[in-house]
Amino acid sequence: MRRIFQKREERLRCISCGKEATIEAFCDDCWLKNKTLFQIEDFEIKVCRKCGKILDNRIGKYDLNDDFIKQIAINKIKTNNKIVEKEAFVRKIGNRYSVTIICKGFIFPCKKQKEENKNIFIKIRETLCELCRKISSEQYDAIIQIRTNKRLPIKRMRPDKIERVKEGLNLYFLYRDKAQKALKLLREFKIKRSFKLIGEKDTKRIYREYYSVKDYEPRNSRSRGEDKSSKRRRSAWNR
Ligand SMILES: [Zn+2]
Ligand SMILES: [Zn+2]
Repeated sequence: MRRIFQKREERLRCISCGKEATIEAFCDDCWLKNKTLFQIEDFEIKVCRKCGKILDNRIGKYDLNDDFIKQIAINKIKTNNKIVEKEAFVRKIGNRYSVTIICKGFIFPCKKQKEENKNIFIKIRETLCELCRKISSEQYDAIIQIRTNKRLPIKRMRPDKIERVKEGLNLYFLYRDKAQKALKLLREFKIKRSFKLIGEKDTKRIYREYYSVKDYEPRNSRSRGEDKSSKRRRSAWNR
């Protein structure tokens, strides 16, 4: 009891400013001055220059307005301290944003609130999303070659591109699974599949699938010949 009383009487002084010390050898203000309330770093946002989609699955398509930049910046704040207020001020400069983040909060065990400002740059990097890249480079995964005069539910097949050729129609699909779905609507036809190597990406070979859609022929008039191009395509696949 007596010792506690004595200690209080001693009144340690802050080694920095001489005010009464409260934490370690500092007063609240000097202690807080040396501590960081939060961290945040510069970062970039990738945006598709064609469709405006933001290339981050969690965000998807969004307008790049100041409110959005503000929100995305605030979400990047990292801290182990108790933040009670977050604010961001955004200014656009060319292809980047200058953002000032202001946080108020507490750093344990100090009971005094700290306010801290940090300035970061968010760079906007224009690129192409996967879909726009596929469309612009005409990278179709599958082509359904319609070679019948019967009526087909073309609209329901939802091709990404339709081409009229002498022999019929070519339906282009950017994605293989969309072509597979479309083929399910053509059960009554004879479907022949072939492949063609169209390139390589990250050591993986990329093939385009071709589906030739014809009527089932009566047994006696079945033709034996195969057109040359489909033969070539198949050999590329087997190699
Ligand atoms: Zn001090
Ligand atoms: Zn896009």
